[in-house]
Amino acid sequence: MAEETYPPFKIAKIEISKTISRRQHFQRVHKKLLNHKDVIFEALQQLESDWAGFCFVKILFCNADESCNFTEAYCKTMRNVQEKNPAGRRIVWIPDLFDVALLKSFLDNEDVEEQILDKHLVAFEKLGQFLDTVEDTNKILQNELKIESIKEGRWASIFGTHVLKMLAVYDQMKIDSGYCELSTECPCGCKKPINIDDNSMGHEEVWHGSVDILLGPTCIEVFNSYQGDEDDFLESSNSAFERKRGKLENSQNQLISESITFAFAMRGGVVPLIGISKSSFIIYMYDPDDDLLYESTSMPLFLDSVKGRQLHFSSVVALWIAINHSYFFKGVQASHVEFGYKANLQNFLGEEQHEIYQKHIRMGGLRHVNSNVVEFKAGMNKGKFKRF
Ligand SMILES: [Zn+2]
Repeated sequence: MAEETYPPFKIAKIEISKTISRRQHFQRVHKKLLNHKDVIFEALQQLESDWAGFCFVKILFCNADESCNFTEAYCKTMRNVQEKNPAGRRIVWIPDLFDVALLKSFLDNEDVEEQILDKHLVAFEKLGQFLDTVEDTNKILQNELKIESIKEGRWASIFGTHVLKMLAVYDQMKIDSGYCELSTECPCGCKKPINIDDNSMGHEEVWHGSVDILLGPTCIEVFNSYQGDEDDFLESSNSAFERKRGKLENSQNQLISESITFAFAMRGGVVPLIGISKSSFIIYMYDPDDDLLYESTSMPLFLDSVKGRQLHFSSVVALWIAINHSYFFKGVQASHVEFGYKANLQNFLGEEQHEIYQKHIRMGGLRHVNSNVVEFKAGMNKGKFKRF
């Protein structure tokens, strides 16, 4: 039976004159990126180091089998990096999953013209355009960061419009209509249009709900207040897994349930779910075929400099590569499957729910579905409980 798949995504329109040959396009993009060579090399060097990485997540207990909104989902988890046996504490570095080297070879002017497809050129050009105007973007974000209690919807609109969408090869960015404070224009005053839509997904009988931003085949969930996690990133460079976890971790129930549901909604293929706060971001990727759940370290969005808070370039490149993952994802490595640190999602699903996840998860139309699970406090007992 042919299942409904998510509609294909339009590639961003980048003005390429019809008279320009591929060779000329190649050279134009190359020249553009060379203007930012030092910055990009530094970022790539960091992404190839232990600055950030992924671990595997195992579910110990969850309510994926219940009719439950993402905001009420719970998911008790364990990471392979927490295992007692050191042999199990292995980390997946970014170049193991994404073809970071391609950008490097392109910049180095290696003989890679054959390897670099038109779609890569479009992605490289987007990165170049972003870096051309990054000073202006920094100013816009700095102004927003001055607002003490910036609303989630405003931050989603502004960060989405000026950073995420600008890095993406996809034309479509949809902000969830659940934000009551949203307007159809970017709230920073630039008047760029905002596309507000129904970003719900899932199924009535299992996990479902809305994600804040849908950008091509990437989901982004935005969180507002993470006071306290900023200090983590002001420390001098230390290895990724020594770094304290940001408060994004507190939202992991929601992020994991969205990541798993989104992966099923996309029907095969590993797709990222990015959780973003005002100071950091984290990436989850679930592979439904091999039942592997990758979780990245939390990466800083900004660096403090004499010019004020500036976007962290390594993070910008990491975001760019994650958003445009369909161009750079190398696929789940056989060694990761053999390593066998599975999420074990199936252990928590009956036959019926298993079939729902496999065949009936859908995009849209789930905004008004009630959750069967509620947050409840009774005396000493506080938690998420199922309704009668
Ligand atoms: Zn704006």
